[in-house]
Amino acid sequence: MPIYEYKCANCKESFETLVFRSDEAVSCPHCKGTNVNRLMSACGFKSGGSFTPASGPSGGCSGCSSTNCSSCH
Ligand SMILES: [Zn+2]
Repeated sequence: MPIYEYKCANCKESFETLVFRSDEAVSCPHCKGTNVNRLMSACGFKSGGSFTPASGPSGGCSGCSSTNCSSCH
């Protein structure tokens, strides 16, 4: 399961949530705001130099070549 960490830009709380689609709308559990930023997991950085931001529809990271980062962090 892809679990992503987010930080709410509204109340500054960070939280983790399951995201099944990279373009899925995520709302803050603290203030219900949708102005949240995904914090990139460390998996891309560990592989060294090949990290690319998950801005495309595929999500995930270059370290694990899929939307499922659970195998690399
Ligand atoms: Zn919030």
